[in-house]
Amino acid sequence: MKIIRTENLDFDYEMLDDKGQVAEINPALRRVNLTVEKGEFLAILGHNGSGKSTLAKHFNGILLPTRGKVFVNDIDVSDDSKIYEIRQTVGMVFQNPDNQIVAAIVEEDVAFALENLGVPPAEIRERIDEAMRLVDIYKYHKHAPHRLSGGQKQRVAIAGVIAMRPQCIVLDEPTAMLDPKGRKEVMKTIKMLNEKGITIILITHYMEEAAQARRVVVMDKGEIIMDGTPRKIFAEVEKLKAVGLDVPQVTELSFELRKAGLHLPADILNEEEFARELSSVLQ
Ligand code: ADP
Ligand code: MG
Repeated sequence: MKIIRTENLDFDYEMLDDKGQVAEINPALRRVNLTVEKGEFLAILGHNGSGKSTLAKHFNGILLPTRGKVFVNDIDVSDDSKIYEIRQTVGMVFQNPDNQIVAAIVEEDVAFALENLGVPPAEIRERIDEAMRLVDIYKYHKHAPHRLSGGQKQRVAIAGVIAMRPQCIVLDEPTAMLDPKGRKEVMKTIKMLNEKGITIILITHYMEEAAQARRVVVMDKGEIIMDGTPRKIFAEVEKLKAVGLDVPQVTELSFELRKAGLHLPADILNEEEFARELSSVLQ
């Protein structure tokens, strides 16, 4: 089952002059054809300005296509009457946890969207407790969010989305503002949610995070230029470098060792594989 499907999606940002006339058109997405299956863990990579956030905002109707189509569970996102259904199916988590926190107490923050939807109080209680336990912030449920670490705050934001019981969560560089510990906590949470069957779309510029996904899409200048398993994508070191991306450090190191004459595979993704392969070529 496909949860998200784009068909020849184009998006132009229109810059208006002081009279409100279109002065300039900035094409941000071009002919994007992307299908995401239910239950997938997809990472989207691309350097700054390649169109990742613009694409993400099409997945729950924050932006609507200039040309082409976007479907969520076969519902056209341009259908105004379905916007609630779409927003409940696909939740979004953004980069800066501080901009996503609206209440003075953790559990109120997690409940915020449900209250706005008019969900009955008893059901809200049940859903937020479940969500807070799932992302392991229940112990802070009476705390003030601004006293939490970046990783904890981002998990509060994720709990707020989980409480809506979405089928898919889109995370737009959720770890960019976090320290290494916070990044690990958030990645662990994301993987756990995927194991529970939630479709994950993770936009990141950390190659080590993308390597943990089951599929990676690379964007450049508003287009999808690569699509495959992390193993296949990261083996193309030179192609990635040409669009301003790196590969995971361990993949880079094995690439350099290959150039220097060691017979290592091109698609090493993590330290354990590297250690195994290196010890076998050195024996
Ligand atoms: P990424 O998330 O990959 O960094 P974006 O989707 O933010 O890329 O941006 C894609 C392109 O659209 C860039 O050229 C960027 O300058 C432009 N853009 C993004 N947001 C706006 C906006 N609100 N108005 C005009 N242009 C924008
Ligand atoms: Mg972005």
